[in-house]
Amino acid sequence: MTELNLAGPRPAISEIDPAPLAAWLAARGEPPYRATQVLAGAHRADAGGFDDLTDLPAPLRHALDGAFRYSTIEASHVLTADNGLTAKAVHQLHDGQRVESVLMRYPSRGRMAERTTICISSQAGCAVNCPFCATGQAGFARQLTPGEIVDQVLHWHRPPWHALGQEWRPRDRRASYNIVFMGMGEPLNNADRVFEAVRLLNDPARLGIGARRITVSTSGVVPGIDRMIEELPQVNLAISLHAATDELRDELVPINRKWPVAAVVDAGQRFSERTGRRVSLEYVMIDGLNDTDAQGAALVDAARGWRSHVNLIPLNPTPGSRWSGTPAARIARFVEGLRAGGVSVTVRDTRGREIEAACGQLHAQLAGRELPRAGRPAAPSVPVA
Ligand code: SAH
Ligand code: SF4
Repeated sequence: MTELNLAGPRPAISEIDPAPLAAWLAARGEPPYRATQVLAGAHRADAGGFDDLTDLPAPLRHALDGAFRYSTIEASHVLTADNGLTAKAVHQLHDGQRVESVLMRYPSRGRMAERTTICISSQAGCAVNCPFCATGQAGFARQLTPGEIVDQVLHWHRPPWHALGQEWRPRDRRASYNIVFMGMGEPLNNADRVFEAVRLLNDPARLGIGARRITVSTSGVVPGIDRMIEELPQVNLAISLHAATDELRDELVPINRKWPVAAVVDAGQRFSERTGRRVSLEYVMIDGLNDTDAQGAALVDAARGWRSHVNLIPLNPTPGSRWSGTPAARIARFVEGLRAGGVSVTVRDTRGREIEAACGQLHAQLAGRELPRAGRPAAPSVPVA
């Protein structure tokens, strides 16, 4: 565990505005174009630290290193699965808090180009307290800053690419990452910083990831959904519904007591009407609980008649979980019921099961263990498959 930084950490290059960076550079007598040069360098796929920005004079690189953090992530532990196509990291921050991110690569198939999805965390812990979720069980620790959110993406973009294999060369792909806020935390309980992180990810002077490639997943924070309509109308919305009756949803997603099913579905409809886009309804399938015919009928009522799409996810049981995932035959029956009711539905593939890729699980497993420091080469990777 790193020592607590009581003085507060140095500003991070991933979240600093160009203006204060330019002012710092100007005070050192540097020409005005340097700020652009530093920002561009820090977002290059082949630069793992200020020292790799060799188009800058060495004394400036050294001074930058003293004044700014290249990353807010101090150490990471990486596991790979699916032959290197899925990788998960636990990242340690300056105060010892740990969060998770996951990289999922989908190789090109036929005319489909390779896709890369990066799943990131928005908070250390989560206060929503869903009983099937490892993060929810651990409770809330603190909000992540915009830089701490962005640096999870930069972790996968920068060398040493954490032993994902020689073919993983993100050099030209930064604009083509898909980003999903489906790691630890409730993004709309940290909306200001998450929205700022989206703007940073979007910024053509940084990673330049299009808003349409970014998805915010929420347990149903209605005022946050309304803010997305106004402030980030091009970002995709996923709502973790998991149950379509208040009785069951009060238990599975406790924030339902504040914003019940009808209010959340209304907010989803407002979003789709105002943005013209489809909203995903996430639905974790729990054996014998939310996978009954009656729950299926309630889900049809909630999802029918507007631009929604149901995404069924077999539960990945947390250690000691009182629940298990719905068997495949039951999922197939549930899917049939939804289709017959006129609802668009898919079953999500479960990447990275063997590396505890679901929300918060790897973090729990590694609690108390020291993580390898950032920037050190491949050692952190532990292939599991
Ligand atoms: N807090 C937000 C985003 C992070 S959770 C939300 O709840 O939407 C991302 C997704 O992972 C959610 O749909 C969540 O319900 C799901 N999830 C959490 N624990 C899970 C588990 N044990 N198995 C399968 N999915 C899980
Ligand atoms: Fe929080 Fe999402 Fe986990 Fe629920 S599922 S506890 S909202 S991270």
